[in-house]
Amino acid sequence: MKFAIIGGTHGNEPVGIKTIEKILAENKETLNSYKTFLGNPKAYDLKKRYVDSDLNRAFGPNGSSKGYEKKRSSELTDLIKDKFDFILDLHTTTSNMKFTVILTRIDEFSLKAACFLQKQIPSLKIIVSLRAGNDCPYTSSLANSALTVEFGPVINNVEDDKLIKTMFELTTKLLDYDFGEEFNYEDIECYQVFGIQSYPDQGQWEIHKDIDGHDFDPITYGNPMFCNDSDEIITYKGPNTIYPLFVNEAAYQENNTAMEMSLKTTLANALFKLK
Ligand SMILES: [Zn+2]
Repeated sequence: MKFAIIGGTHGNEPVGIKTIEKILAENKETLNSYKTFLGNPKAYDLKKRYVDSDLNRAFGPNGSSKGYEKKRSSELTDLIKDKFDFILDLHTTTSNMKFTVILTRIDEFSLKAACFLQKQIPSLKIIVSLRAGNDCPYTSSLANSALTVEFGPVINNVEDDKLIKTMFELTTKLLDYDFGEEFNYEDIECYQVFGIQSYPDQGQWEIHKDIDGHDFDPITYGNPMFCNDSDEIITYKGPNTIYPLFVNEAAYQENNTAMEMSLKTTLANALFKLK
């Protein structure tokens, strides 16, 4: 397998970039070949998520971009598309997500890679993206197989050494994986994203303390979701138990997104629903 490893798709997430620097410094022979890419060099210089538009929404037929990211996404497309089998894109989040991988592709190799990484760190959670299986504007659209790594919480522009070490360990293990092992997807837990929870339209609301910092904790009917300065509370009124992800992620504030919502299921079930 030929891997393209991308760090700094978002310029204010240096953990992925430092992970790549560590891989290059060690220069180890690995089973799978690889090449590394600094996703958004100009945004990294500026310590910003992006310059003109989010680079990780710029790829494939549904991508949109402008200015610098329009140019950079076409450069990366020329460098990567049809030249690599697997995209590993290294990200961090300000949310309390701990160690996660996100599936946007649902082919055999992407699934095996997610299960293999979970075996290395049993607490690592597998997320099935809202856009999984479809044309997705992320870097993952540049190859047939892909995984997005998301570690947190870490403040933007902070080089968290513990996260760098774990990201390095997982990346190098994946580079030595032969994709031979079979996994039973009925036994593998995942979180399937089904929607976005925006902040309420009227008034000034904050995410309730029972949810803020509690990514992956269940929310059931009647649990508080939002509160305001007058101690008013908005509760969850849906029928299903849901699991919040990317709660209060700094980058989502510009879109008025409070969190993503997911259901806890098995990979087998998630794949069935996507068919
Ligand atoms: Zn990111």
